[in-house]
Amino acid sequence: MCNLMNKDKEYVANTYARFPVEIASGKGSILYSTDGKEYIDLGSGIGVTAFGISDEEWVKAVTEQLNKVQHVSNLYYTEPCAELAKILCTRTGMKKVFFANSGAEANECAIKVARKYAADNKGEDYNVIITLKNSFHGRTLTTLAATGQDVFHAKFKPLTSGFVYATANDLESVEKLVKENKVCGILMECVQGEGGVIALDKDFVTGVEKICRANDIILMIDEVQTGNGRTGELYAYMNYGISPDVITTAKGLGGGLPIGACIMSEKVQSVLGFGDHGSTYGGNPVCAAGAISVINRIDKKLLDGVKEKSDYAFKQLGSAKGVESVSGAGLMIGFKTVKSAKDVVNQCIEKGVLCLTAKDKVRLLPALNIPFETFKKAIDIIKEVCEN
Ligand SMILES: *Cc1c(COP(=O)(O)O)cnc(C)c1O
Repeated sequence: MCNLMNKDKEYVANTYARFPVEIASGKGSILYSTDGKEYIDLGSGIGVTAFGISDEEWVKAVTEQLNKVQHVSNLYYTEPCAELAKILCTRTGMKKVFFANSGAEANECAIKVARKYAADNKGEDYNVIITLKNSFHGRTLTTLAATGQDVFHAKFKPLTSGFVYATANDLESVEKLVKENKVCGILMECVQGEGGVIALDKDFVTGVEKICRANDIILMIDEVQTGNGRTGELYAYMNYGISPDVITTAKGLGGGLPIGACIMSEKVQSVLGFGDHGSTYGGNPVCAAGAISVINRIDKKLLDGVKEKSDYAFKQLGSAKGVESVSGAGLMIGFKTVKSAKDVVNQCIEKGVLCLTAKDKVRLLPALNIPFETFKKAIDIIKEVCEN
Protein backbone atom coordinates (compact mmCIF):
# COMPACT_ATOMS: atom_id res chain seq x y z
CA MET A 1 0.00 0.00 0.00
CA CYS A 2 2.82 2.38 0.77
CA ASN A 3 4.43 1.89 -2.64
CA LEU A 4 2.56 4.79 -4.18
CA MET A 5 3.27 7.15 -1.29
CA ASN A 6 6.93 6.27 -1.26
CA LYS A 7 7.33 6.56 -5.03
CA ASP A 8 5.60 9.96 -4.98
CA LYS A 9 7.78 11.16 -2.09
CA GLU A 10 10.91 10.03 -3.89
CA TYR A 11 10.22 11.42 -7.35
CA VAL A 12 7.63 14.22 -7.16
CA ALA A 13 8.86 17.67 -6.13
CA ASN A 14 8.24 18.24 -2.44
CA THR A 15 5.92 21.22 -2.88
CA TYR A 16 2.83 19.62 -1.34
CA ALA A 17 2.21 18.28 2.15
CA ARG A 18 -0.22 15.59 0.97
CA PHE A 19 -2.68 13.85 3.26
CA PRO A 20 -1.91 10.14 3.65
CA VAL A 21 -4.66 9.00 1.26
CA GLU A 22 -3.98 7.18 -2.02
CA ILE A 23 -6.90 7.74 -4.37
CA ALA A 24 -7.59 4.95 -6.85
CA SER A 25 -10.95 5.93 -8.31
CA GLY A 26 -14.27 7.57 -7.60
CA LYS A 27 -17.84 8.18 -8.66
CA GLY A 28 -19.78 11.37 -8.04
CA SER A 29 -18.93 12.64 -4.56
CA ILE A 30 -17.38 9.35 -3.39
CA LEU A 31 -13.66 8.60 -3.69
CA TYR A 32 -12.10 5.17 -3.19
CA SER A 33 -8.57 4.68 -1.90
CA THR A 34 -6.14 1.99 -3.01
CA ASP A 35 -6.91 0.05 0.19
CA GLY A 36 -10.60 0.04 -0.64
CA LYS A 37 -11.74 2.69 1.84
CA GLU A 38 -14.63 4.97 0.86
CA TYR A 39 -14.51 8.75 1.35
CA ILE A 40 -17.12 11.47 0.93
CA ASP A 41 -15.37 14.16 -1.10
CA LEU A 42 -16.06 17.68 0.19
CA GLY A 43 -13.08 19.24 -1.60
CA SER A 44 -13.76 18.30 -5.24
CA GLY A 45 -10.09 18.68 -6.07
CA ILE A 46 -10.14 22.27 -4.71
CA GLY A 47 -13.40 23.24 -6.35
CA VAL A 48 -12.63 21.67 -9.71
CA THR A 49 -14.82 18.58 -10.19
CA ALA A 50 -18.00 20.67 -10.27
CA PHE A 51 -20.19 17.65 -11.03
CA GLY A 52 -18.14 15.10 -9.14
CA ILE A 53 -15.84 12.33 -10.22
CA SER A 54 -16.32 10.66 -13.61
CA ASP A 55 -19.75 12.21 -14.02
CA GLU A 56 -21.49 10.45 -16.91
CA GLU A 57 -22.57 13.51 -18.90
CA TRP A 58 -19.17 15.14 -18.54
CA VAL A 59 -17.28 11.94 -19.48
CA LYS A 60 -19.50 11.59 -22.56
CA ALA A 61 -18.85 15.18 -23.67
CA VAL A 62 -15.11 14.81 -23.18
CA THR A 63 -14.73 11.35 -24.78
CA GLU A 64 -16.86 12.29 -27.78
CA GLN A 65 -14.52 15.21 -28.42
CA LEU A 66 -11.45 13.02 -27.76
CA ASN A 67 -12.65 10.70 -30.51
CA LYS A 68 -13.00 13.61 -32.94
CA VAL A 69 -9.85 15.66 -32.40
CA GLN A 70 -7.90 16.32 -29.18
CA HIS A 71 -5.81 19.34 -30.18
CA VAL A 72 -4.99 21.50 -33.18
CA SER A 73 -3.55 24.70 -31.60
CA ASN A 74 -4.93 28.18 -32.07
CA LEU A 75 -3.77 28.31 -35.69
CA TYR A 76 -7.15 26.82 -36.66
CA TYR A 77 -10.81 27.05 -35.70
CA THR A 78 -12.51 24.40 -33.56
CA GLU A 79 -16.17 24.28 -32.56
CA PRO A 80 -15.86 23.69 -28.78
CA CYS A 81 -13.62 26.74 -28.28
CA ALA A 82 -15.93 29.09 -30.18
CA GLU A 83 -19.08 27.60 -28.65
CA LEU A 84 -17.74 27.85 -25.08
CA ALA A 85 -16.75 31.49 -25.65
CA LYS A 86 -20.23 32.21 -27.01
CA ILE A 87 -21.90 30.57 -23.99
CA LEU A 88 -19.69 32.45 -21.51
CA CYS A 89 -20.41 35.78 -23.22
CA THR A 90 -24.15 35.08 -23.45
CA ARG A 91 -24.40 34.10 -19.78
CA THR A 92 -22.41 37.13 -18.53
CA GLY A 93 -23.18 39.86 -21.07
CA MET A 94 -19.46 40.09 -21.81
CA LYS A 95 -18.01 40.27 -25.34
CA LYS A 96 -14.79 38.27 -25.77
CA VAL A 97 -12.93 35.39 -24.13
CA PHE A 98 -9.24 34.51 -24.05
CA PHE A 99 -8.65 30.88 -23.06
CA ALA A 100 -5.72 29.80 -20.91
CA ASN A 101 -5.02 26.63 -18.93
CA SER A 102 -5.21 27.69 -15.30
CA GLY A 103 -6.38 30.37 -12.93
CA ALA A 104 -3.00 32.02 -12.70
CA GLU A 105 -2.80 32.28 -16.49
CA ALA A 106 -6.32 33.71 -16.70
CA ASN A 107 -5.19 36.39 -14.23
CA GLU A 108 -1.98 37.02 -16.20
CA CYS A 109 -4.18 37.79 -19.20
CA ALA A 110 -6.39 40.13 -17.16
CA ILE A 111 -3.32 42.00 -15.90
CA LYS A 112 -2.06 42.39 -19.47
CA VAL A 113 -5.48 43.71 -20.53
CA ALA A 114 -5.51 46.34 -17.74
CA ARG A 115 -1.97 47.49 -18.52
CA LYS A 116 -2.50 47.63 -22.28
CA TYR A 117 -5.83 49.45 -21.90
CA ALA A 118 -4.06 52.11 -19.86
CA ALA A 119 -1.07 52.22 -22.23
CA ASP A 120 -3.47 52.80 -25.15
CA ASN A 121 -5.72 55.28 -23.36
CA LYS A 122 -3.98 56.92 -20.39
CA GLY A 123 -0.24 56.47 -20.87
CA GLU A 124 2.21 53.66 -20.14
CA ASP A 125 3.03 55.11 -16.73
CA TYR A 126 -0.47 54.09 -15.60
CA ASN A 127 0.62 50.54 -14.86
CA VAL A 128 -0.14 50.00 -11.17
CA ILE A 129 -2.67 47.35 -10.15
CA ILE A 130 -4.44 47.37 -6.80
CA THR A 131 -5.22 44.02 -5.20
CA LEU A 132 -6.34 43.23 -1.66
CA LYS A 133 -4.38 42.12 1.36
CA ASN A 134 -5.09 38.48 2.12
CA SER A 135 -5.95 37.77 -1.54
CA PHE A 136 -4.80 34.86 -3.68
CA HIS A 137 -4.34 35.12 -7.44
CA GLY A 138 -1.87 32.38 -8.38
CA ARG A 139 1.71 31.13 -8.26
CA THR A 140 3.40 32.60 -11.32
CA LEU A 141 5.74 35.45 -10.43
CA THR A 142 3.24 38.08 -11.62
CA THR A 143 0.19 36.55 -9.95
CA LEU A 144 2.30 36.02 -6.81
CA ALA A 145 2.96 39.76 -6.89
CA ALA A 146 -0.81 40.23 -7.19
CA THR A 147 -1.35 37.95 -4.20
CA GLY A 148 -1.49 40.18 -1.12
CA GLN A 149 0.12 37.74 1.31
CA ASP A 150 3.78 38.13 2.24
CA VAL A 151 4.17 34.44 3.14
CA PHE A 152 3.99 33.54 -0.55
CA HIS A 153 6.54 36.20 -1.59
CA ALA A 154 9.52 35.39 0.62
CA LYS A 155 12.64 34.25 -1.24
CA PHE A 156 11.08 34.65 -4.72
CA LYS A 157 11.86 38.33 -5.14
CA PRO A 158 12.08 40.33 -7.28
CA LEU A 159 8.47 39.77 -8.25
CA THR A 160 6.76 41.67 -11.07
CA SER A 161 6.56 45.29 -9.99
CA GLY A 162 3.51 47.54 -10.04
CA PHE A 163 1.27 45.92 -7.42
CA VAL A 164 -0.06 47.67 -4.32
CA TYR A 165 -2.41 46.28 -1.70
CA ALA A 166 -5.58 47.75 -0.24
CA THR A 167 -7.42 46.47 2.82
CA ALA A 168 -10.57 44.44 2.14
CA ASN A 169 -13.79 46.27 3.12
CA ASP A 170 -11.89 49.55 3.60
CA LEU A 171 -12.83 51.88 0.72
CA GLU A 172 -10.58 54.65 2.02
CA SER A 173 -7.55 52.40 1.64
CA VAL A 174 -8.50 51.94 -2.03
CA GLU A 175 -9.06 55.68 -2.56
CA LYS A 176 -5.70 56.46 -0.97
CA LEU A 177 -3.85 54.04 -3.28
CA VAL A 178 -5.66 55.46 -6.31
CA LYS A 179 -4.47 58.97 -5.34
CA GLU A 180 -0.89 57.91 -4.62
CA ASN A 181 -0.33 55.72 -7.71
CA LYS A 182 -0.98 55.75 -11.43
CA VAL A 183 -3.49 52.92 -11.31
CA CYS A 184 -4.69 50.96 -14.35
CA GLY A 185 -6.65 48.17 -12.68
CA ILE A 186 -8.14 46.69 -9.53
CA LEU A 187 -8.20 42.90 -9.17
CA MET A 188 -10.11 41.17 -6.39
CA GLU A 189 -12.03 38.04 -5.35
CA CYS A 190 -15.61 38.65 -4.17
CA VAL A 191 -15.10 35.81 -1.69
CA GLN A 192 -11.46 35.44 -0.69
CA GLY A 193 -10.84 31.70 -0.93
CA GLU A 194 -7.32 30.78 0.10
CA GLY A 195 -7.38 33.81 2.43
CA GLY A 196 -9.97 32.11 4.65
CA VAL A 197 -13.30 31.98 2.74
CA ILE A 198 -14.25 35.60 3.48
CA ALA A 199 -17.00 37.31 1.46
CA LEU A 200 -16.43 41.00 0.75
CA ASP A 201 -19.08 43.47 1.96
CA LYS A 202 -21.56 44.63 -0.66
CA ASP A 203 -20.89 48.33 0.06
CA PHE A 204 -17.20 47.79 -0.46
CA VAL A 205 -17.57 45.97 -3.78
CA THR A 206 -20.03 48.53 -5.20
CA GLY A 207 -17.79 51.31 -3.84
CA VAL A 208 -14.77 49.87 -5.66
CA GLU A 209 -16.81 49.75 -8.86
CA LYS A 210 -17.64 53.46 -8.45
CA ILE A 211 -13.97 54.33 -7.91
CA CYS A 212 -13.08 52.38 -11.07
CA ARG A 213 -15.71 54.21 -13.13
CA ALA A 214 -14.69 57.64 -11.78
CA ASN A 215 -11.00 57.05 -12.59
CA ASP A 216 -11.23 54.92 -15.76
CA ILE A 217 -9.70 51.97 -13.91
CA ILE A 218 -10.27 48.42 -15.17
CA LEU A 219 -12.28 46.38 -12.65
CA MET A 220 -11.18 42.73 -12.69
CA ILE A 221 -12.98 40.09 -10.65
CA ASP A 222 -11.06 36.88 -9.96
CA GLU A 223 -13.71 34.15 -10.17
CA VAL A 224 -11.22 31.30 -10.35
CA GLN A 225 -12.58 29.71 -7.17
CA THR A 226 -15.92 31.52 -6.76
CA GLY A 227 -17.06 31.05 -10.34
CA ASN A 228 -19.18 28.54 -12.21
CA GLY A 229 -21.99 28.10 -9.70
CA ARG A 230 -19.86 27.79 -6.59
CA THR A 231 -21.49 30.64 -4.62
CA GLY A 232 -25.08 30.01 -5.72
CA GLU A 233 -24.89 32.32 -8.75
CA LEU A 234 -23.13 31.55 -12.02
CA TYR A 235 -20.42 34.03 -10.97
CA ALA A 236 -20.02 35.52 -7.51
CA TYR A 237 -20.01 39.14 -8.75
CA MET A 238 -23.65 38.57 -9.71
CA ASN A 239 -24.45 38.49 -5.98
CA TYR A 240 -23.19 42.09 -5.79
CA GLY A 241 -24.95 43.69 -8.75
CA ILE A 242 -21.74 45.01 -10.32
CA SER A 243 -20.53 44.96 -13.94
CA PRO A 244 -16.82 44.06 -14.05
CA ASP A 245 -14.66 44.92 -17.05
CA VAL A 246 -12.87 41.58 -16.83
CA ILE A 247 -13.77 38.27 -15.19
CA THR A 248 -11.22 35.50 -14.79
CA THR A 249 -12.16 31.93 -14.06
CA ALA A 250 -10.74 28.39 -14.06
CA LYS A 251 -11.03 25.63 -11.38
CA GLY A 252 -14.66 24.39 -11.73
CA LEU A 253 -14.99 25.59 -15.33
CA GLY A 254 -13.42 22.49 -16.88
CA GLY A 255 -14.97 20.06 -14.39
CA GLY A 256 -11.58 18.36 -14.00
CA LEU A 257 -9.65 19.29 -17.12
CA PRO A 258 -7.31 22.29 -17.15
CA ILE A 259 -8.86 25.41 -18.62
CA GLY A 260 -8.84 29.05 -17.65
CA ALA A 261 -10.76 31.95 -19.14
CA CYS A 262 -10.28 35.70 -19.18
CA ILE A 263 -13.68 37.14 -20.08
CA MET A 264 -13.73 40.72 -21.37
CA SER A 265 -16.46 43.35 -21.48
CA GLU A 266 -17.30 45.62 -24.38
CA LYS A 267 -14.98 48.30 -23.02
CA VAL A 268 -11.87 46.11 -23.22
CA GLN A 269 -12.85 43.56 -25.86
CA SER A 270 -10.43 44.95 -28.44
CA VAL A 271 -7.51 45.76 -26.13
CA LEU A 272 -5.64 42.59 -27.07
CA GLY A 273 -4.87 42.32 -30.77
CA PHE A 274 -2.96 39.91 -33.01
CA GLY A 275 0.16 38.67 -31.27
CA ASP A 276 -0.53 40.41 -27.96
CA HIS A 277 -1.14 37.17 -26.08
CA GLY A 278 -1.20 33.45 -26.69
CA SER A 279 -1.23 29.92 -25.33
CA THR A 280 -0.48 26.71 -27.21
CA TYR A 281 -3.11 24.72 -25.32
CA GLY A 282 -5.55 27.59 -24.76
CA GLY A 283 -9.10 26.68 -25.81
CA ASN A 284 -8.12 23.04 -26.27
CA PRO A 285 -11.17 21.29 -27.75
CA VAL A 286 -11.33 18.48 -25.15
CA CYS A 287 -11.12 20.89 -22.19
CA ALA A 288 -13.61 23.21 -23.90
CA ALA A 289 -16.05 20.34 -24.52
CA GLY A 290 -15.87 19.46 -20.82
CA ALA A 291 -16.42 23.09 -19.88
CA ILE A 292 -19.45 23.41 -22.18
CA SER A 293 -21.06 20.44 -20.46
CA VAL A 294 -20.33 22.02 -17.04
CA ILE A 295 -21.63 25.52 -17.86
CA ASN A 296 -24.76 24.25 -19.63
CA ARG A 297 -25.80 22.35 -16.50
CA ILE A 298 -25.46 25.37 -14.20
CA ASP A 299 -29.11 26.41 -14.38
CA LYS A 300 -31.60 27.78 -11.85
CA LYS A 301 -32.46 24.33 -10.52
CA LEU A 302 -28.82 23.48 -9.85
CA LEU A 303 -28.15 26.88 -8.27
CA ASP A 304 -31.24 26.52 -6.05
CA GLY A 305 -29.80 23.19 -4.92
CA VAL A 306 -26.47 24.85 -4.15
CA LYS A 307 -28.26 27.48 -2.04
CA GLU A 308 -30.37 24.87 -0.24
CA LYS A 309 -27.35 22.76 0.69
CA SER A 310 -25.49 25.93 1.66
CA ASP A 311 -28.27 27.05 4.02
CA TYR A 312 -28.27 23.61 5.59
CA ALA A 313 -24.51 23.63 6.16
CA PHE A 314 -24.48 27.19 7.55
CA LYS A 315 -27.26 26.28 10.03
CA GLN A 316 -25.79 22.95 11.07
CA LEU A 317 -22.21 24.14 11.43
CA GLY A 318 -23.26 27.50 12.88
CA SER A 319 -24.96 25.78 15.80
CA ALA A 320 -22.43 22.96 16.24
CA LYS A 321 -20.44 22.63 19.43
CA GLY A 322 -16.75 23.22 18.73
CA VAL A 323 -17.44 25.51 15.76
CA GLU A 324 -16.76 29.20 16.42
CA SER A 325 -17.88 30.81 13.18
CA VAL A 326 -18.98 29.98 9.63
CA SER A 327 -18.24 32.13 6.57
CA GLY A 328 -18.40 32.10 2.79
CA ALA A 329 -21.17 31.84 0.21
CA GLY A 330 -23.00 28.99 -1.48
CA LEU A 331 -20.97 25.79 -1.42
CA MET A 332 -17.79 27.70 -0.63
CA ILE A 333 -17.80 27.35 3.13
CA GLY A 334 -15.18 28.07 5.78
CA PHE A 335 -15.50 27.49 9.50
CA LYS A 336 -13.32 28.15 12.48
CA THR A 337 -13.11 25.37 15.00
CA VAL A 338 -11.99 25.11 18.64
CA LYS A 339 -9.65 22.32 17.56
CA SER A 340 -7.03 23.22 14.97
CA ALA A 341 -8.28 22.96 11.38
CA LYS A 342 -5.56 20.39 10.72
CA ASP A 343 -6.80 18.15 13.52
CA VAL A 344 -10.37 18.40 12.27
CA VAL A 345 -9.34 17.49 8.72
CA ASN A 346 -7.22 14.54 9.88
CA GLN A 347 -9.96 13.20 12.14
CA CYS A 348 -12.47 13.58 9.31
CA ILE A 349 -10.18 11.54 7.07
CA GLU A 350 -10.22 8.77 9.70
CA LYS A 351 -14.02 8.83 9.55
CA GLY A 352 -14.17 8.87 5.74
CA VAL A 353 -14.72 12.56 4.92
CA LEU A 354 -12.28 14.67 2.90
CA CYS A 355 -12.23 18.41 3.74
CA LEU A 356 -9.86 21.25 2.86
CA THR A 357 -8.35 24.05 4.90
CA ALA A 358 -7.91 27.77 4.19
CA LYS A 359 -5.57 29.55 6.59
CA ASP A 360 -6.81 28.60 10.10
CA LYS A 361 -10.22 27.43 8.89
CA VAL A 362 -11.69 24.20 7.62
CA ARG A 363 -12.96 24.73 4.07
CA LEU A 364 -15.62 22.83 2.15
CA LEU A 365 -15.96 22.96 -1.65
CA PRO A 366 -18.14 19.94 -2.45
CA ALA A 367 -19.34 19.08 -5.93
CA LEU A 368 -22.30 21.32 -6.83
CA ASN A 369 -24.50 18.26 -7.37
CA ILE A 370 -23.49 16.35 -4.24
CA PRO A 371 -26.60 14.38 -3.22
CA PHE A 372 -28.24 16.00 -0.19
CA GLU A 373 -28.16 12.74 1.77
CA THR A 374 -24.43 12.31 1.18
CA PHE A 375 -23.82 15.93 2.19
CA LYS A 376 -25.89 15.54 5.38
CA LYS A 377 -23.98 12.41 6.30
CA ALA A 378 -20.66 14.25 5.87
CA ILE A 379 -21.83 17.28 7.86
CA ASP A 380 -22.90 14.96 10.70
CA ILE A 381 -19.43 13.43 10.74
CA ILE A 382 -17.79 16.88 10.76
CA LYS A 383 -20.01 17.97 13.66
CA GLU A 384 -19.14 14.84 15.58
CA VAL A 385 -15.41 15.52 15.03
CA CYS A 386 -15.71 19.18 16.08
CA GLU A 387 -17.76 18.37 19.18
CA ASN A 388 -15.44 15.73 20.62
C1 LIG B 1 -6.75 28.68 -7.25
C2 LIG B 1 -6.81 30.13 -7.50
C3 LIG B 1 -5.98 30.76 -8.44
C4 LIG B 1 -4.89 30.02 -9.17
O1 LIG B 1 -5.42 29.04 -10.03
P1 LIG B 1 -4.42 27.93 -10.66
O2 LIG B 1 -5.31 27.18 -11.59
O3 LIG B 1 -3.90 27.13 -9.54
O4 LIG B 1 -3.36 28.68 -11.36
C5 LIG B 1 -6.15 32.11 -8.68
N1 LIG B 1 -7.10 32.82 -8.03
C6 LIG B 1 -7.91 32.25 -7.12
C7 LIG B 1 -8.94 33.09 -6.44
C8 LIG B 1 -7.80 30.90 -6.81
O5 LIG B 1 -8.58 30.36 -5.88
